[in-house]
Amino acid sequence: MSGNSLGMETMLSNDWALGLDASGLENKPGIGLSHPAAGAALQRLMTRARRSGFELAVASGYRGYLRQLTIFNEKFRCQRPVCSDQGHELSRSAFDEAGWLRAILRYSALPGTSRHHWGTDFDVWDSRAVGEDYKLLLQGDEYAGDGPFAALSAWLSQLIDRDDAEGFYRPYDTVTDGVAIEPWHLSHRPTAQLFYPLVTDAQLRSLWLAGEQTAAGGCSFEPLAAQAVLEDQFEEVMARFVRSYYE
Ligand SMILES: [Zn+2]
Repeated sequence: MSGNSLGMETMLSNDWALGLDASGLENKPGIGLSHPAAGAALQRLMTRARRSGFELAVASGYRGYLRQLTIFNEKFRCQRPVCSDQGHELSRSAFDEAGWLRAILRYSALPGTSRHHWGTDFDVWDSRAVGEDYKLLLQGDEYAGDGPFAALSAWLSQLIDRDDAEGFYRPYDTVTDGVAIEPWHLSHRPTAQLFYPLVTDAQLRSLWLAGEQTAAGGCSFEPLAAQAVLEDQFEEVMARFVRSYYE
């Protein structure tokens, strides 16, 4: 497959869009599993970054449904910390169920709706800017001001602003009451946007509801922990945390 293709000859599917089928992904060194065209574009961006003095590294790329389900359910059940925009751990007792759901959705997608399911989106940092024992937090202050990745972030902003970032942009770059600002999250727009119509409400609902639901690969999953509270506000949550970023 040519490095210039935008996935037109790559067979996309609903199961891929929901993180249930990784068979269309390619494994690339330093990137991991990725959509072939998005991975090739990221390799070009990494080469350019190196020439500019940065070692653009992938902290998190592809993530399947099961992984996202585990993260989400553990947060909802307080088995994993849920943090504020300032990086402080939030207390479950300060929220009702709907508020807790929203606090989680600031930083963690509902399984099936993560852009990381597509192999087109990557959380990046500059491994040259810090020591080997640096503990990456993926917090805003690392990417601004005196933060170690502020220079990489500014370099990326320049390229994105003039649409010269190999097709990458930041879907989470403005203040909203949806997903928090994530300067580390890059999305390869030409391939990512092909997945938007494949994320269907009906498939999501049946995945979340039915632990028995069998995916294409024959796996079954535990149900989504938040489904009762989601039931009431499905449309609003999908609009605010998922579809408003489909541009
Ligand atoms: Zn991300």
